[in-house]
Amino acid sequence: ALKPLIAANWKMNGNRELVSTVTEAVASLSAAVDVLVCPPATLLPVFKAQRNFALGGQDVSAAQAGAYTGQLSVALLKEASASYCLVGHSERRQYQFESDSLIAQKVAAAIAGGITPVLCIGETLAERQQEKTEQVLAKQLAAVYASQPELLSKSVIAYEPIWAIGTGESATPEQAQLTHAFIRAELSRYDAEAATQLRILYGGSVNAANSAALFAQPDINGALVGGASLKPDEFVQICLSAK
Ligand code: 13P
Repeated sequence: ALKPLIAANWKMNGNRELVSTVTEAVASLSAAVDVLVCPPATLLPVFKAQRNFALGGQDVSAAQAGAYTGQLSVALLKEASASYCLVGHSERRQYQFESDSLIAQKVAAAIAGGITPVLCIGETLAERQQEKTEQVLAKQLAAVYASQPELLSKSVIAYEPIWAIGTGESATPEQAQLTHAFIRAELSRYDAEAATQLRILYGGSVNAANSAALFAQPDINGALVGGASLKPDEFVQICLSAK
């Protein structure tokens, strides 16, 4: 089995105190799982160099440098100790109008600059009800990997059904497994070997009560945790439930 990756997406939450409490809580974990924390970028430099988890940005610019007010380049994230970044989170697709083609450029920029993108994909409730889930996910994946299949072996995918984000209504383990298996099969069209090695995280109302059943599924290789990642003890419980 692939080593699980448990990622925290703090979104626009957290402060210096949470940096300390999370660092302390995660310090108790063994190396059996990889842990990633994606705080607001201004908090990245607050984390100590001595820690047993990786740091990531929540977004990255497709551009390397220049007149891009408010954006952060891969180099800036790396200088702030990030080795990962989220790309294409549904909240950025929705509120910042990020397109599939911009997201494809961001994934390429991250990898070119030496950080690992966590590409976020997922369908809306309406799309699921209309049985368009597979079509939507296939399109989101094709936008990135059809023309740049070499990026797949350096990527992590996070499947986050939009109807499960922040709603308390997680996908069932069976539902998530079916979708993760679809994602892996779809990606094998672009790079069959990379698809078997790829970590596919589930996100959407993951908590300490539902994480173990999700992680028991063969194609769920970790989680992208929002709300529950702001509670250090619960986040550690989620990490402990991944084996
Ligand atoms: P919640 O865990 O709060 O549902 O958020 C999921 C998410 O969007 C993580 O990126």
